[in-house]
Amino acid sequence: MLTLNRLVEERDTEAILEYAREFHGHACPYLALGIRASLVAMEELGVGRLDYSGSVDESILAIVEVNSCFTDGVQVTTGCTLGNNSLIYLDLGKTALTLVRRSTWDGVRVYADAEKLAKYYPPGAVELFNKVVKERKGTPEERKRLWELWEEAAMGMLHLPREEFKIERVRVPPIEQAPIFGSVRCSNCGELVMETRAVYVDGNPYCLNCAGEKYLGVIGRGIVELNGRMRV
Ligand SMILES: [Zn+2]
Ligand SMILES: [Zn+2]
Repeated sequence: MLTLNRLVEERDTEAILEYAREFHGHACPYLALGIRASLVAMEELGVGRLDYSGSVDESILAIVEVNSCFTDGVQVTTGCTLGNNSLIYLDLGKTALTLVRRSTWDGVRVYADAEKLAKYYPPGAVELFNKVVKERKGTPEERKRLWELWEEAAMGMLHLPREEFKIERVRVPPIEQAPIFGSVRCSNCGELVMETRAVYVDGNPYCLNCAGEKYLGVIGRGIVELNGRMRV
């Protein structure tokens, strides 16, 4: 069995955090919160991590409502990722995860409330975060201290009691399996583009970039309309 699957099965949260750290680039409280919320949802729904066969037929889906560190914790723990189409991102701006069975569309939504979790941060950690990260004013020593405190906070989040989450059973409207589309070649750049993303000018296909059309993209603030060529 693959290592991550085993660690999730054994609920070895600290080892899962080490995997997540490599994936995410650092260990932080919301990464750990994503791990803990995932384990709570999996337990409640009675499902394991998306395994090899599951990642082909998409037996479970994870629906997140935010694109933050939390989401990376969810991807590592549940095995539902953006690339295997088992992660759905709703641009709602809430720290919440819904885990759903594709066979029945029954699911469990787990919501974490930042205000309730404030007591799990070591003293001074949030103030230091505001200074170093939000205002970008920290000294190198303060940055170092912040990461120590953040690490401590992450450990706390890994072991959050279930009562700290709002947990509810939900019915999710069925979401289609990711369709497989054909491609057409853009008449300008010569690259292949999924046929559903091509536009036709005088009967010739173009990619949205070359056609100068608007398209949607996920950036830090959420899903936004982007316009214009990404190429310099
Ligand atoms: Zn992070
Ligand atoms: Zn093009």
